[in-house]
Amino acid sequence: MSTISIVVPCYNEQEVLPLFYKEITRVADEMKAAHDVDFELVFVDDGSRDGTLALLRQMSSEDARVHYLSFSRNFGKEAAIYAGLSHTTGEYVGLMDADLQDPPALLEEMYLGIVRDGHDCVATCRSTRKGEPPIRSFFARCFYRLINKISKANIVDGARDFRLMKRVMVDAILSMAEYNRFSKGIFGWIGFDIHWISYENVERAAGQTKWSFWKLFLYSLEGIVAFSTAPLAIASIMGIFFCFLAFVFLCVVFVKTLLFGDPVAGYPSLICVILFIGGIQLLCTGIAGQYIAKMYLETKKRPIYIIKEEK
Ligand code: UDP
Ligand code: MG
Repeated sequence: MSTISIVVPCYNEQEVLPLFYKEITRVADEMKAAHDVDFELVFVDDGSRDGTLALLRQMSSEDARVHYLSFSRNFGKEAAIYAGLSHTTGEYVGLMDADLQDPPALLEEMYLGIVRDGHDCVATCRSTRKGEPPIRSFFARCFYRLINKISKANIVDGARDFRLMKRVMVDAILSMAEYNRFSKGIFGWIGFDIHWISYENVERAAGQTKWSFWKLFLYSLEGIVAFSTAPLAIASIMGIFFCFLAFVFLCVVFVKTLLFGDPVAGYPSLICVILFIGGIQLLCTGIAGQYIAKMYLETKKRPIYIIKEEK
């Protein structure tokens, strides 16, 4: 009998966890009856400060299918995904949020997409961005368009992390043991045959989202730095462009002085140019700095997560 492992990152999810457990076990029982497939649930407590860990302990003592890892502090969802995936044993591995925004009821269709239709992975994306602030949608769209142009990450707009994969794909993800993790990019970068199903965005069942606009913005910059060196190229191109501009300007000033003499003027415009070029230089140094910072963290080879307790 084959097994589906489900990885669930949880950070302060005590309100929603019992609801999630009820729903996922209902689906697991149904699928066991219909397709003869077992379930293994790997919950990752990402340093929650509420009753999440206590709930997980209780669930795992009552249900042999439930396993959990508990981090020593909050390491972030990316680390939780990595830890969860590396502790799965099933032939098929699913990844879903604890807040029921990823409906467990879709798992059956996803499973059939793999075993019946032969896809390597069935992933989900939301069909609309309804219910989201327009400004956030705008920036999200810009981000997806940009990252797909400048990298091989191949990210589908509106893609969720909710997906079911074959073991080979999980191994590929785990082989990318980088410290600065951007899962959306990693999922696209490794390739494989991915079948997309879309569904209407569902509101969180309970509890609160952990993402603010600012956090999302920084996360998108992480994604760009992790999957593309285009910003460095842009910095170089800007450098060349300004050298060229300076040369043209030099010629103009030279000829003008020869023809019309040298009435000293243009102090304000000079200041503007100096400030402008200074700004560009700082920007380019900053871009290079971002990559150096990532390299610095990467070369330290720190663990991606630290487990305090597991079962
Ligand atoms: N999460 C996590 N660590 C964090 C933040 C979030 O493990 O530092 C988990 C969270 O418990 C949830 C999932 O990641 O299961 C998605 O988080 P959330 O629902 O807050 O994000 P959204 O759905 O709003 O993008
Ligand atoms: Mg959510």
